[in-house]
Amino acid sequence: MTRRREWYNRFRMLETMTAPGLRKRYVPDVFSYRRRKTRVVMVGKVGVGGDNPVRLQSMTTTDTLDPEATFRQSVRMIEAGCELVRITAPTVEDARAIGKIKEMLVKAGHGDVPLVADIHFNPAAAAEAAEFCEKVRINPGNFVDTKRFAVKEYTDAAYAAEIERIEERFAPLVAKLKRLKRACRIGTNHGSLSDRIMNRYGDSALGMVESALEFARIAEKHDYRELIFSMKASNPKVMIAAYRLLVARMNELGMDYPLHLGVTEAGDGEDGRIKSAIGIGSLLEDGLGDTIRVSLTEDPEFEIPVCRELVKPFADRAPQEARPEAHKEKFHCADFYSYARRKSDHFDVGPIMVGGHQLVRAFLRAPAPMTAGELLTAYEAQLKKAQGADPEIVEFDVKDERSLARFKSIREELRSATSRLAFLARVEGPISLALKAAEIAHVVCWATPIEGDYAAYLKTLKEKNIANLVEAENAETAKKLEAASRYKNIHTIVSLRGDDASKVLQEYRLLAAYGASSPILIRSPREKTTDEQILRSATLIGGLLCDGVGDAVLIDAELPFARNVELLYNVLQGAGVRITKTEFVSCPSCGRTLFDLQTTTERIKKRTGHLKGVKIAIMGCIVNGPGEMADADFGYVGGAPDAINLYVGKDCVQKGIPFAKADDALVELIKKHGKWVDP
Ligand code: SF4
Repeated sequence: MTRRREWYNRFRMLETMTAPGLRKRYVPDVFSYRRRKTRVVMVGKVGVGGDNPVRLQSMTTTDTLDPEATFRQSVRMIEAGCELVRITAPTVEDARAIGKIKEMLVKAGHGDVPLVADIHFNPAAAAEAAEFCEKVRINPGNFVDTKRFAVKEYTDAAYAAEIERIEERFAPLVAKLKRLKRACRIGTNHGSLSDRIMNRYGDSALGMVESALEFARIAEKHDYRELIFSMKASNPKVMIAAYRLLVARMNELGMDYPLHLGVTEAGDGEDGRIKSAIGIGSLLEDGLGDTIRVSLTEDPEFEIPVCRELVKPFADRAPQEARPEAHKEKFHCADFYSYARRKSDHFDVGPIMVGGHQLVRAFLRAPAPMTAGELLTAYEAQLKKAQGADPEIVEFDVKDERSLARFKSIREELRSATSRLAFLARVEGPISLALKAAEIAHVVCWATPIEGDYAAYLKTLKEKNIANLVEAENAETAKKLEAASRYKNIHTIVSLRGDDASKVLQEYRLLAAYGASSPILIRSPREKTTDEQILRSATLIGGLLCDGVGDAVLIDAELPFARNVELLYNVLQGAGVRITKTEFVSCPSCGRTLFDLQTTTERIKKRTGHLKGVKIAIMGCIVNGPGEMADADFGYVGGAPDAINLYVGKDCVQKGIPFAKADDALVELIKKHGKWVDP
């Protein structure tokens, strides 16, 4: 791409992505919850969109040409609660095998569960799969186009000629889907945009959206509207922006198609769940999403409980009234379609600077029975794991004289042991307690201020030059307390409390929209189970951080201290704001996978998990792998049965390495590029 074209594309992209460029917004009001109204698309007997519950789905990982194994896996998925089963169909033969799988499922009494054929590159396979599957998923980036990474100036005429070529190949499928009453998902992936789109729109959310709309326009031209859209990416920020931009564009075009939400290549374990919750959860909070898939590098039946947990808070969630504040359009950034961190004040809290361009700080809650020694050991162990994470702030509850004395003694012990920690006293009690806490803390939060006494409290903080953490139940009250504190020139951090993470997110946005520039602490409330805690904290904290809101985070979990700290860092890494360990991108695997992804990922994690800041992708095949490993530093990709290809960035640097030697070759490659450190 020439530099001129590059800048032209960037300019076009920015022009279209800024709020004034879009005549309609993606939701009427970002400060209140309301599910987006969509048409219902029937996938067999399962309705997607409208008032239907958000549907849960997953994808088989077995070889489609082994119908028996794929049938057995499908049954396990269905028994776990999967409402739509997706199966890959790379060839016409695979598509026919889905017919056999369908027969087996009908015999086993699962005929009502719709099957979805996953197509890349092969219109003939799509046509064949439509015979047996209730839905066909196509990838607009590769349904017709083959990627050559060609740099080309497209004139409008050349571009239009390409669209005509797409129509020639896509229209017959549309006719067949229409005749057989099948649904179609137009599923864009960030990593597999066509050369045409890349040259015109760049590697952007806008390119993802336009890629899908090209196909939607052709379908509508042929009077076919059984469409569902997806905009997946492995980076939650890109994925969130693309879905929002798609909805804004659909609103402009009068389209009301349902959405399938997902984060690709999320990985496995807690990190995979966190990434998925950040992307999927925050869009559900926006009222978007009609069916979801959590892509984990685990057996597909394990994805369903995660899906179920993610949609749980939205099952009966009533729409909220639009907030009058929404009309002020005072959110900190120009739009919700690209990332920009909210501008905030920065100042010292003990040994740590908070706000501004500083790292998003981790506030760590000290459980009541913990001694100074235990706290320090757990913290240092975590620091070691996170390879020297920066200093943080520890929060102590001060409710009476006893807890105040405990805070004081731990504070004294730790003062001599480390200078890496600052101390926050969260006081629930009379002003006398808050004033005593101010004698020893770096920052005080008086959680229950009394109107008349608040002025006296502020006066003391000012005299002692202590920062004030303002906390309230809603943005309105927080704003008033914050204004009083700032008026006295006190360094102020502002936060919200509430026991329902799923309702507090919009309130934080409102807090950010009110205009004062105090740093914001996101406090994630306590959940009943660890699984809920992981998903809700990731949605609230990760969702807000991806909106650019948040200078510090705290998880109020019922977890051991070290585990809480680990979760907090994992969420920060998932949101892409603090990197404390190796980042792995691994595909969920499917019928195309050329090696055992789960065990291979585990093995590679063991050998390279200490390389802080290095991003490694482990992908099952070269069909989609290289395109979808996003911005990984190194790629380990199935090139052929028993052979691995290694990548540096997007370049394949070694081909056909025997599987048994591939792990060593990867380590050597990392060393060669100067990114290796001994464990
Ligand atoms: S990268 Fe290849 S193997 Fe992995 S899920 Fe995608 S298509 Fe399947």
